[in-house]
Amino acid sequence: MTAGRGGIVHLVGAGPGDPGLLTLRAAELLARADTVVYDRLVHPDVLARARRGARLLFVGKEGFGEQVPQAEICALLIEQARLGREVVRLKGGDPFVFGRGGEEALALEEAGVPYDVVPGVSSGVAGPGLAGIPVTHRGLSAAVTFATGHTRDGEPDWAHLARAPTLVLFMAGRSLAAATAALVAAGRDPGEPAALVEAASLPQQRTIEGTLSSIAARAEAENVGSPALLVLGEVVGLRARIARGLAAPFSEELPAQAAQPRSS
Ligand code: SAH
Repeated sequence: MTAGRGGIVHLVGAGPGDPGLLTLRAAELLARADTVVYDRLVHPDVLARARRGARLLFVGKEGFGEQVPQAEICALLIEQARLGREVVRLKGGDPFVFGRGGEEALALEEAGVPYDVVPGVSSGVAGPGLAGIPVTHRGLSAAVTFATGHTRDGEPDWAHLARAPTLVLFMAGRSLAAATAALVAAGRDPGEPAALVEAASLPQQRTIEGTLSSIAARAEAENVGSPALLVLGEVVGLRARIARGLAAPFSEELPAQAAQPRSS
């Protein structure tokens, strides 16, 4: 059976949090969708853009601690589309970056349900950027790797990740000490600059800096929560200057020392 009466699922990225980072396309689809199926990381101000009267269905999952099993989410999307509804499947960041958007697209394809993809601003790029860290920088880093310390298939390839010029680690909260130790054991420089970016684009955005070997302890001391990203590489060293000049709306309060005017 295919979708009846024009049902469709839009796999939509909601960006890192602040509604200002939603795409125009995402806002347009939200304003007219019949059903919005959303995750925990989707900000309430983004949801507020949904059409009045739309069904808002929470399937709250984050990382691997999901509440609704993936198969049920896929079944829900298929069911809603087959009722002829226009469905927005809203995910934090980009739907195809650690968002299981690919799994949902495959399930929809198999079910013969029409779908499309509306990319979002991934926190992997936006998080470092909002903290004043360019993920690539001429002369410092010509490659960036997105990875996670959690995989269902076991350990990531730490030796490979140890060689990435810029490494952005998603779902950094829980396994930070283990991940940083594994990277050092695999040959990454324990002294290289590291930053943890928490709640990027949200009012409580915060960045904790350290080195690869010190960042896990610093995060614990500072009580860094979720969502957070670990950024490693020489580019992190640019933050001291770039963040100093960042203007509102996304600027963080910098420690007094970093906020002092440049002497050179
Ligand atoms: N599809 C999303 C990632 C989902 S996995 C994207 O493209 O951004 C969830 C992880 O993303 C979190 O554990 C965290 O590591 C990261 N993340 C998402 N939003 C974030 C934010 N606003 N600030 C920092 N990290 C964020």
